[in-house]
Amino acid sequence: VRVRVPAKINLFLAVEGLRDDGYHDLTTVLQTVDLHDELDCTLHGPPPGALAADERRPMHLELRHDAGPEVPSGPDNLVLRAATAVLQRLGVPLAEGPGGDDDLRTVIDLRKDIPVAAGMAGGSADAAATLLAVDRLWEAGLRREGLEELAVELGADVPFCLHGGTALATGTGVATARVLARGEFHWVVCVGDGEGLSTPAVFRAHDDLPARMVAVAPDLVLQALRTGDPVLLAEGIHNDLQRAALTLRPALGAGLAAIEEAGALASLVSGSGPTLLGLARDAEHAAVLAAALRPGFPGVRTARSAAGGPRLARDRHPAGEGELYGGGEAPRG
Ligand code: ATP
Repeated sequence: VRVRVPAKINLFLAVEGLRDDGYHDLTTVLQTVDLHDELDCTLHGPPPGALAADERRPMHLELRHDAGPEVPSGPDNLVLRAATAVLQRLGVPLAEGPGGDDDLRTVIDLRKDIPVAAGMAGGSADAAATLLAVDRLWEAGLRREGLEELAVELGADVPFCLHGGTALATGTGVATARVLARGEFHWVVCVGDGEGLSTPAVFRAHDDLPARMVAVAPDLVLQALRTGDPVLLAEGIHNDLQRAALTLRPALGAGLAAIEEAGALASLVSGSGPTLLGLARDAEHAAVLAAALRPGFPGVRTARSAAGGPRLARDRHPAGEGELYGGGEAPRG
């Protein structure tokens, strides 16, 4: 099974407060952008979900990726955490090591194009993609509710990544409601030198800063999404974590200024950073901005939002890569 899963950006992010359990309550508007990771999952042996409970053998899991040392290859990788969570649901023990020819095993190849530790939810996207892939591959029959329950346990952005598109999230970010969004928005995405920012560290830095004095609300962003108006969106985009990201990485301030000087409608730190976003009027404007900004940043891309949701295809399907989950649609359960 092959899955392509998009990154996300936060068009609006307000930190409403720190809860007793250490998590933060947020109000955030999320939208997918067309930077994708891709996973190929191959099962060697019968799908455990198709067998009676007492016939299910332990499963070996092997993850291979091309993303360098910053992305773990062991049990900390969100791909393996997601796959292990599905095995637990099925009552299938996780076997140690990658296994051999006679073992029941699943090999997952991850190709990362979403910048790592960059505030674009790459790990969460991979977790959501894995849930969808192994549910299908192992015939786990999790259905929508089962997938959503596991997504919540895996992390705040994972439930959003399961469906993609555009959503308003509240609470710790796991309660999501789809938002009406028309048209497309075009961005220039400026990626740093590979040194990521840790999301928990950015939240801690946020808590150490004085509280914001003015109330903020996502109304303008929601209106801009309804009308597809980038000028209105530029007025409404907001990120409470931006001050914290700038405190930890002051050079980001010059980056934001450069994006505005190049003529972007607005500039923004993406999520917990350090990726910087510039909002363009249209695709052509995004290309012009990218060309102007390329000399100043290690990596500059253009991207379009919204980019639908994870797309799942069965590699060896007789008809080729049939799309099973369409752009941004909820998984069929
Ligand atoms: P978010 O926007 O959800 O806060 P992020 O985009 O800032 O997250 P990620 O790219 O998800 O950050 O990576 C954060 C850390 O998660 C990485 O530094 C890495 O150690 C770990 N990680 C675990 N699994 C993955 C994965 N599949 N892809 C990338 N990073 C992963």
